[in-house]
Amino acid sequence: MSKWFIFPALHKEERGIINQELQRIERSISLAQQELLAQARDWANWDDTYAFVQDRYPRYAEANFSPEMMKEMRYQLIAFFDASGDVYFLSGLAPDSGAYATCTRAVDDCAWMVPYVDSIQVPIKSTDQHQSFLMPSVSAPAMVVITPIVRTDGSGPSVGWLAKVRLMDTKWMAQMEEVTGLPITIDRQFTAQATPSTTIKGDTIYAQHILPTNVPAISITVGTQLNRTHYLASLNTIRYVLIWTACLMLFVIGFVLWLMERIILKPLKALSIFAKHASEEDTRLDSALLCQRNDEIGMLARSFEQQLTRQRKLNAELLNLSTHDSLTGLPNRRLFDQRLQAAIHEMEASSQPLAVMMLDIDHFKLFNDHYGHQKGDECLRQVAQALQSVATAHDFLIARTGGEEFSALLPDTSAQHAKHIGQLLHETVYALAFPHLASPVAPYVTISVGIGSLDEGIDISPSTLMSTADQALYSAKAAGRHQVIAFTPSIANTSVHTHDTPL
Ligand code: GH3
Ligand code: MG
Ligand code: MG
Repeated sequence: MSKWFIFPALHKEERGIINQELQRIERSISLAQQELLAQARDWANWDDTYAFVQDRYPRYAEANFSPEMMKEMRYQLIAFFDASGDVYFLSGLAPDSGAYATCTRAVDDCAWMVPYVDSIQVPIKSTDQHQSFLMPSVSAPAMVVITPIVRTDGSGPSVGWLAKVRLMDTKWMAQMEEVTGLPITIDRQFTAQATPSTTIKGDTIYAQHILPTNVPAISITVGTQLNRTHYLASLNTIRYVLIWTACLMLFVIGFVLWLMERIILKPLKALSIFAKHASEEDTRLDSALLCQRNDEIGMLARSFEQQLTRQRKLNAELLNLSTHDSLTGLPNRRLFDQRLQAAIHEMEASSQPLAVMMLDIDHFKLFNDHYGHQKGDECLRQVAQALQSVATAHDFLIARTGGEEFSALLPDTSAQHAKHIGQLLHETVYALAFPHLASPVAPYVTISVGIGSLDEGIDISPSTLMSTADQALYSAKAAGRHQVIAFTPSIANTSVHTHDTPL
């Protein structure tokens, strides 16, 4: 950026400055020309001068010209011409030797004046106005002014011409340098080669302008030079500023990225991991930190956490609904079947005993008919509760597998122990003393229990085992209900415990 925008701009400014300085030098040269013209016009307006060129004041030259005056006024040449443009009087200091001479023609000691006289005579013959121009000249460029000689009051025609020539030599340049405070170079060049230019060499910048002369083929070039320390210092300052700005920008960008990583990206990553593994229980640990945040991510994490908790609760409720009975709250057939399947696998693997039971309320239809369906539901709930209390105490599963039917699953339970538990269940229900006046077997609600049990692990299907229990239950019903009967599968070997008399 600095290469394409700043450095060219600085360079342009630098060139602008040196060109301004050159214009100042040109104005000083122009001022010097005007000053020389004013001096010439002053002389040309004297009545003495007026009389002199008309041969009416022979002592004029003697009274007014001296080498001291010429040196003091820095005149190289003062030339008088008559009205027809011919030389009338010449006074000059030779540029090479500095020798003073006065003549009426440019010959002998005044021969060096010929080029000047020739140059002056050209405009005299073409115009009657005063003239000011630069001359490439012989030894050094010169400024020339020409003015018509008239009366002091301006009346009457011009009677001749007065011209003054001042050399722009080293002495004059030293004076100009003092006035402008700038180094000045003045050269002559063929116009075809002369062009205004600025050149840079190391710590210095040069510039030159072209000034026209009375000779079209030759121009005067005026030049100056400036030290570039100011520009180079600016350049260095800009370089430092640019480097520091770039460093600062890099630091700020890095800092912003770091902040983004810390404040946004890292928590977002944690949130996404948390969301991804939402189903896993240990995500609660990760979410705790996120939920404590006071920003939008914290809000997001909290609402996500709430949503997740609600979903887990709903899932648990759904699972409970699908595996439990709504009336009694006991596990249902679906759960019982799952557990039975698993228990049979375990029994086969470990050769442990296993027992199942089927329990059925006796004459429940009669109960409903007698007490009504609502009371029947109440009875079911109480019986279920009683059965569950025994199951909890002895750590086995009891499920409601039909209308007024229940099933029990007792892993690692011997046939002997199963019979004991069956008996316990039977007694617990009877102990409820839930009135059943319509029952032909007892005044209270009773159950019949069929047990299917295996003392060692054999390859058996769940349905075979359950049908053994069912057969046992059927037998209990057939034998008069209100009793417990146990069968062992495959061999229909009955091991019966009956209540011949009501308990
Ligand atoms: P058994 O001693 O042979 O088992 O006779 P039972 O009357 O108990 O058997 P049965 O199968 O003839 O009748 C069962 C009755 O249970 C029929 C039905 O009205 C009742 N029952 C089934 N489920 C419910 C229930 O959820 N609530 C109520 N109140 N009654 C039910
Ligand atoms: Mg039944
Ligand atoms: Mg029944």
